[in-house]
Amino acid sequence: MIVVKNINSKIKEQPAIGMVANVMEQFNSAADHIDLHPNIRKILSITNNEIMVNFPVKMDNGNVEIFTGYRVQHNNALGPYKGGLRYHPTVDIDAARALAMWMTWKTSLAGLPYGGAKGGIKLDPSKYSKGELERITRRFTFALGDNIGPEYDIPAPDVNTNSQTMAWMADTYMSTRPPAERAAHQHVVTGKPAGSGGLEGRDRATGYGVYLSIKFWSEKNKTSLEGKTFIVQGFGNVGYWTAHFLEKEGAKLVAVQDAYGSIQNQEGIAVEDLLEYSQLNGGSIVNFPHAKPVDKNEFFSIACDICIPAALGNQITKDNASMIQASLIAEGANGPTNVEGEKILLKKGITIIPDILCNSGGVIGSYFEWLQNRNGELWHLDEVMVKLYKKLKDSFDKVYEYSENEAIDMRTAAYCIAIERIEQAYVQRGIFP
Ligand code: NAD
Repeated sequence: MIVVKNINSKIKEQPAIGMVANVMEQFNSAADHIDLHPNIRKILSITNNEIMVNFPVKMDNGNVEIFTGYRVQHNNALGPYKGGLRYHPTVDIDAARALAMWMTWKTSLAGLPYGGAKGGIKLDPSKYSKGELERITRRFTFALGDNIGPEYDIPAPDVNTNSQTMAWMADTYMSTRPPAERAAHQHVVTGKPAGSGGLEGRDRATGYGVYLSIKFWSEKNKTSLEGKTFIVQGFGNVGYWTAHFLEKEGAKLVAVQDAYGSIQNQEGIAVEDLLEYSQLNGGSIVNFPHAKPVDKNEFFSIACDICIPAALGNQITKDNASMIQASLIAEGANGPTNVEGEKILLKKGITIIPDILCNSGGVIGSYFEWLQNRNGELWHLDEVMVKLYKKLKDSFDKVYEYSENEAIDMRTAAYCIAIERIEQAYVQRGIFP
């Protein structure tokens, strides 16, 4: 079952540091709660395959640069590996392992026929031209070769990758197949542009899910979103779409932080105006005219009802958790709250809607795209949104009820449901040979 595959180099050790330590602590606390069988615990505590590739790419100036890319496949007991690819200087084996594990829990919790994987390239994309990024993406796809595939491991966009990145990947992968098979491999990636096999609505699926999680929680707690204030860390795909839907529901965006800076206005920041501004300013929100700048370290202390981390992992820690004034944290990002930070938040009575539930709209949308490609169908936007709503409501209700019935926090409840489903698959099938 567990095969270590490496193309250029072998990664043998799996030190429990950083993000992996965080996800393992979350996993172990849920595994203890459900008294997970020790054999299943062993299997789920490690990753199945870890692929690291070093590959050369010709730059615009004629020089060659070597890049390092990763793909970690954690578990595929429930179906093909699934998970995003990230282009960021913080991408390394530890981050890829942790993010792959989170994907396994997320796809299981959502009831999808997928396992979990994650990867990316260690680089700062702002330093490369569009042509260079295209060549980097195509060469990375080629280097991954048959370690990805439409029925084996299906990447998707993540931080600093988007539908254009996925279009290049799909085209490269399909170009390496025999002509008669090419079209049948379109679902090797999801998150493609709508005109190239992508799903109408995949762009907003994650943010829609974050918004719906907040709405469902408010309904359970008999409160409305009208007039509620919220802050968002990260104004990319997830942050923007979450803010878009919350604003439509009557909530008020009062502060935003991105990679370039932080801004605040307690009177409200118009979401569409901020999007337009950031698009004209290379993706940055800095100097938006209808808000004042805030010190980076004070961002999480801003007064608000709802806090939405939608950028990177390990953002809410013991250093800033006690400053948070919100009563609800909705995790748009993967792993934004570390274990120490979470303990402080729970002690303060702050509810956390955990990443594997809160941002699962993205992978559910990806699943719809994969089905659409596999079946040669084209789905309409309203149809997609209805299907997304149904799946997200079902997941939220399951986690909420489990957490109420067992008197545990929502993260542990979500993990318990996810792990129990995988455990059942192992118990039914046994271990080969
Ligand atoms: P994106 O690249 O579209 O946007 C990322 C945003 O985060 C940008 O605004 C960037 O400026 C900001 N950012 C980067 N570094 C920062 C820092 N140090 N401090 C503050 N802001 C910073 O990425 P995305 O797709 O919106 O993904 C955001 C998060 O959501 C990631 O954790 C990702 O794994 C998770 N996620 C994304 C999807 C999806 O469908 N895109 C699905 C599930 C989870």
